[in-house]
This record gives sequence, C-alpha cells and structure tokens, in this order.
Amino acid sequence: MDKLPFAMPDFAPGWVWLVGAGPGDPGLLSLLALHALRAADVVVYDALVDKRILELARRGAVLEYAGKRGGKPSASQPDISRRLVQHAKAGLRVLRLKGGDPFVFGRGGEEALALVAEGVPFRIVPGITAGIGGLGYAGIPVTHRDTNHAVTFVTGHGIAGEVPDGLDWPALARGAPVLVFYMAIKHLETISRRLIAAGRPADDPVAIVSRAATDDQRVLETTLGACAAEAARHAIEPPAVVAIGAVVRLRAGLDWIGALAGRVLDADPLGAHGRRDTG
Ligand code: SAH
Repeated sequence: MDKLPFAMPDFAPGWVWLVGAGPGDPGLLSLLALHALRAADVVVYDALVDKRILELARRGAVLEYAGKRGGKPSASQPDISRRLVQHAKAGLRVLRLKGGDPFVFGRGGEEALALVAEGVPFRIVPGITAGIGGLGYAGIPVTHRDTNHAVTFVTGHGIAGEVPDGLDWPALARGAPVLVFYMAIKHLETISRRLIAAGRPADDPVAIVSRAATDDQRVLETTLGACAAEAARHAIEPPAVVAIGAVVRLRAGLDWIGALAGRVLDADPLGAHGRRDTG
C-alpha cells in the first residue's frame, strides 16, 4: 500500500480478520480491508463480494469461495466456521471477506463466536452496509431531519427462509418512520400486506434498490401497496434492499447517479422547503 501517515495493525499469522467489503463498488473498501487483502494467506469470501475486490488479494493468496456454487447448497455455517478455525490453527492469516458489513445480517457474530470458542484471535473490520451505502448510491438518505429521526433495519428472511417470526408488525408499521428491509424480495407480498394490515398507509413511498453500487444497479420507485406487483412486473432480482418511508421522496433531489445521466434534480423534493407540516 502507498505510504500512509498512520500505522496499520499487523495481520499476524494465526489470526482471522472478519472484514466487510461493502455493497459492491470496490472503491467503497476501507483501507483496513485493502491492507488485509494485501497481507492474507487465505481469503474466504461470499457470493456478494465483487470479483474485482478479490483481484486485490496478495499474489499467491488462496481464494476460497464460501457461498453457493453450481447449484450445490451453500456451505453450512458450522462448516465455514470450522474452516476458519482450521486455517488459523494452521498458522495462516485468514481473511473472512463478506459483502456489506459483517455484523449486519452477515452472521459475522456467529463466526466470531466460533473463533472465541476455539481461542482463535480475531479482528473485526466493519464495512459499508447495503441498507445505508446501497441506498446512498440510489440517492436516498436513511435519515433526514424533515422526515425521520429513526431508521429500522429488518430482515425479510428468517432462518428457515420464511418471513421471520417474532416481528412486531404493528410496532414496525406505526413506530418506524423509515424501514429498510434486507432479503425481502421473495416475501415482498407478505411483508407489504402485513405492514398495511398493521396500519401503514398503502401509499407510503417505497424504493427497491437492486444490485446497489454496481454497474447493474436498478432502482424502482413505487408504493407499499403496489411494490410486490411492481417488483414482479419489472423482474427485480436480489440482492436488493427495500426502503419504505418518506425519505424515498428525497431521491427526486438526490439521485446523483441519475444526474450524471442528465436527470434534473429537484432542490425541494419534499415540497414547501421540505416541511410536510406547514400548510
Ligand atoms: N452483510 C450484508 C448483508 C448480507 S444479507 C450488508 O451489510 O450489506 C444479504 C442481503 O443484503 C441481500 O439480500 C440484500 O438485501 C442486501 N444486499 C447486499 N448487497 C446488496 C447490493 N449490492 N444491493 C442491494 N442489496 C444488497
């Protein structure tokens, strides 16, 4: 790496670094992630990691895929954790590279606890999570003073692949001004129906951002009532994040990628200088 005005931590043999690679664009990698790629002996990576990021790995590093391959089921979580432990105990510098942030719906906690159980030392390198950075690439801030003082991240996919049990739908519908769903495309119909049944207006704005921060990024702006049908009609594919709430309207002013292609941005996307409550 070019000379930096500060020291990077040593990536010592026998250590595992659990690193987030961000949502897509390789430029969103952190300096620590790049440092780890340049030093690792083995890189155990997930499906959502851009191939160009893997090209940054040290020459001679072994690249190990931990996701689904050729229709085979994905490596089970205990298998992956076991592999990390084995490599570390063999004295390798092990880079566990995950899409987004390892601690946001990324099972980073599970893997790190498996390391703790085996006495393997580790470091966490957070990454930019899709539900924040991916929405940023769509021109949608997750918070904005005029629209929301809180944001709620939700997974649309439970451990068995179903909409998770135990979500308090009325609380989400009424108490969470902005909801950001991960892994929600498959169950969008159920999710939107439950939110509306629990009191969320069907005309609440929704943005579905597919393959955010990649060259294939697609953004569908719709409403809660229409989002499932629209996503199907436009053949929106995962990975995608789904933002629900007033912040979605800010995209009319903040779609900076659209602006590169000539879109004229609206400096007052919420109307009345951003205030919904002034008459
Ligand atoms: N740890 C990751 C999330 C992994 S779960 C993170 O912090 O981003 C996988 C889900 O993440 C996908 O189903 C999708 O909802 C979201 N996701 C990951 N990468 C994405 C991308 N480039 N664009 C849109 N959504 C993405």
